[in-house]
Amino acid sequence: MARYVEAVCRNCRREGLKLYLKGDRCLTAKCAFDKRAYPPGVHGQRRTKISEYGRQLREKQKAKRIYGMPEKQFRIYYRRSDQMKGITGENLIGMLEKRLDNVIFRLGLAASRNQARQLVLHRHFRVNGQRLNIPSYQVKVGDVVTVNDKSKEIVPIKSAIESGTGKEVPAWLTFDLKDMKGVVERVPVREDVHIPVTEQLIVELYSK
Ligand code: SF4
Repeated sequence: MARYVEAVCRNCRREGLKLYLKGDRCLTAKCAFDKRAYPPGVHGQRRTKISEYGRQLREKQKAKRIYGMPEKQFRIYYRRSDQMKGITGENLIGMLEKRLDNVIFRLGLAASRNQARQLVLHRHFRVNGQRLNIPSYQVKVGDVVTVNDKSKEIVPIKSAIESGTGKEVPAWLTFDLKDMKGVVERVPVREDVHIPVTEQLIVELYSK
């Protein structure tokens, strides 16, 4: 599947906030948003009035970029969340959170969701004992995520754990550092997900 490969720092500048897409680099002086906190391009520093449609579009783009999703797949997630019981926007955020690559990132086993996706594709993790290379896999309550024995020593995982030590694992997951084992304790609710997205605007955009 085609994937957006443009320089990711442009995404933060476009959305007007730090999306933390590059792991540890985002916390250093090299952060492009800290240096140039205005949209990319020759007209980036112009002041423009944003329409209602523009606000909805930006919110959708922001969510897509945080989770590294292509448009087609993101729209499928929206359709599915609309068919589920409950509030569509919250269902959508829940589906995004339950992706295996996001869970790896939330457990602190990767520095960013992009890196987590690569690590999953390279089969470094198991879910309930089975090797899985599907970043979009939706975790379920009770799923146990572990690191392959051979993969425990690879640099990206080791350094993600070292730099993430002390970072909080969300309440819907637990992580045992000694065994490098994560467990899905419950379904995530909106309060568990601290991302700067107003999902209602995404629903308004897609439901037109
Ligand atoms: Fe965004 Fe991180 Fe790049 Fe800064 S370094 S602009 S937070 S992706």
